[in-house]
Amino acid sequence: MSRVLIRNVSVLVVPEQGECRVDEAQDIHVQDDRIVAITPTGGLAAPGAPGTREPLFEVIDGDGLLAVPGLVNSHTHSPMVMMRGAAEDLAIEDWFNRRIWPMEVNLTAERVRVGARLACAEMLLGGVTTFVDHYFHADQIAAAAIESGIRADLAPTFFSSAGQDAIDAAFEMTRDLSTRHPRITASLGPHATYTVTDEDLRRTADRADGRRIHLHAAETVDQTRASVEKHGVTPIQVLERTGVLEAGALIAHGCGIREEDLPILQRYADRTTVASCPKVYLKLAMGEVTPIKGLRSAGVDVGVGTDGAAVHNTLDVWEAIRMVALTQKQREHDAEWMTLSDTLRLATRGSAAAAGLTDQIGVLEPGRQADIALVDLSAPHNQPIHDPRAALVYSVRASDVVTVLVAGQVVVRDRQLTTMDLTEVLAEAKDLAHTLVDLSQGGAVQHYAP
Ligand SMILES: [Zn+2]
Repeated sequence: MSRVLIRNVSVLVVPEQGECRVDEAQDIHVQDDRIVAITPTGGLAAPGAPGTREPLFEVIDGDGLLAVPGLVNSHTHSPMVMMRGAAEDLAIEDWFNRRIWPMEVNLTAERVRVGARLACAEMLLGGVTTFVDHYFHADQIAAAAIESGIRADLAPTFFSSAGQDAIDAAFEMTRDLSTRHPRITASLGPHATYTVTDEDLRRTADRADGRRIHLHAAETVDQTRASVEKHGVTPIQVLERTGVLEAGALIAHGCGIREEDLPILQRYADRTTVASCPKVYLKLAMGEVTPIKGLRSAGVDVGVGTDGAAVHNTLDVWEAIRMVALTQKQREHDAEWMTLSDTLRLATRGSAAAAGLTDQIGVLEPGRQADIALVDLSAPHNQPIHDPRAALVYSVRASDVVTVLVAGQVVVRDRQLTTMDLTEVLAEAKDLAHTLVDLSQGGAVQHYAP
């Protein structure tokens, strides 16, 4: 049995509704993978928690630090860190057709493994304790996640153009990954409504067997318009008629979700979530951002993600959280919408739901997984602090994270990874990066024409 006591720390409290707050001078008691108690510092020891005669595994001094639920990256393609900065100043068509899909011809298990290790290192050092991934060679990503100590939901990804054997192999890998490690869950990963046929989406829903389907849909207003012109239905209606919503879906982006889609999504709100990654929408000039206000009124949970670093350039979820607050205020022309509390709730409870881990992560309270980031707000860019919640949304940096626990294990201590040799991770990535962005082979894994 392992025990960790985080002593004398401030704790971010995120209620289901109403204002978030920070409780000062708290002790967080962790036993094995869970939080067992949060008590005022200097108070009586919690029942069954340290303070009794049993030896402690580790005491972490939380003085001057703020404990927040470990962040969740609710939609990403982690190995794409290998393409960071290799597809800039392009519209979405050229980004896919001239760069990303031609580059992905170069994907190998080894290159994915190296990219995923770099991604896990970046995320853990920035306080991200769970990522929801959607990519190829997902077994390699699972290995990197297990090694690094991070938690992950992995969706082995496929296009219809890859053929039935490849699709069956992706289904098989989802099944296999589901049983590999307590920190790993798996979803089904059709790429998108415009790259996977209705027939294959139906097969995916039929094979779901209680697992979620993670895919891109209604990414832009243009995609929705094209879908209506070609098929007479919106992408969300495609998800309904193929059984994807019935099975349970994590929809990436949804910027093209229309008013008429909201009642449909509302019917499946108990099993449907949407991930919003607004830096990508701004950078690719996609026109609209996720209609979070409409989705929340329909009871649909929304999480925050980065998408892949080939467009987001970082896997910094703090940056994504800030972008959500800014773009939502702008979208609604309402500075009183997406308040500090709304934003923090989206980033914690919303993202936990998007990860399929409601009640497991996303909140610091007894019974939940001990996924905790300790943040140091003493740097000049955060000082002085009139409202620590404002610091978390608008001024904190990933490098302000000092200590990170996942499932009760200290994976970052004093800004250093405890699980991987960062120098080696960086050297491997640097060695292989050029092989991934080489366009000399020709060809592409897919063509973007929604
Ligand atoms: Zn994506």
